[in-house]
Amino acid sequence: MPNLYQLPLNGSSAFVIAEESITVIDAGLRISGGKLLECIRYLGRSPEEIGHIVFTHYHFDHVGGVGDLKKRSDGQVALHQVEVPYVQGDGGARPPNPFQNPVLALLAAPLLGTIQPKPFQVDLPLQDGDRLGPLDGMEVIHTPGHTPGSISLHFPQHGVVIAGDALQCRRGRLGLPMSLFSENMPQARESIKRLAQLDFEVLCLSHFPPVMGNASQSLQEFAAGLA
Ligand SMILES: [Zn+2]
Ligand SMILES: [Zn+2]
Repeated sequence: MPNLYQLPLNGSSAFVIAEESITVIDAGLRISGGKLLECIRYLGRSPEEIGHIVFTHYHFDHVGGVGDLKKRSDGQVALHQVEVPYVQGDGGARPPNPFQNPVLALLAAPLLGTIQPKPFQVDLPLQDGDRLGPLDGMEVIHTPGHTPGSISLHFPQHGVVIAGDALQCRRGRLGLPMSLFSENMPQARESIKRLAQLDFEVLCLSHFPPVMGNASQSLQEFAAGLA
């Protein structure tokens, strides 16, 4: 896939679309921002060329590097509108604790303050059906469940879907998102069924290598087995 790169970053991923203007999709952990910028330079490009920074959802392993990106670029930040207050800190709001197990949530709480990025401005609040320019058209598909504002990005001209954390793919087998970090599993199932209606060849996930070759058929088979 020309111009589309998946960059592994400390357990998460960023995707870089290196067109005339660079689009970055997710930014890894807070400690990963510098590495992401290094990767962009490795591609022979400059961080100042970043035009858009699109987040699949608000989790700290996806938005963490935003501070470094914003220091080096004027990239417009885009996120689903329901999650905008979390990251902007509107009215003192902070992102919800991602752990769904109450004991783990309690244990993780003191850590969250240090791993979450400082509140940041969202320039483009997104909603289902929005279209942005990269790769001849990038369509925003609202795929809630893992988080309320999780989005997937569909590139119909190129048969690619970037689904963030909407799914897992362990040892080549598609699976539901991890329930420990997912806020609404019935909704996550519905979102997967919705993605399965799209036509695409390549399915990119944030914590796994891409599913290549008729990925929509693999997803349809998986979705058909969901209650
Ligand atoms: Zn997540
Ligand atoms: Zn994640």
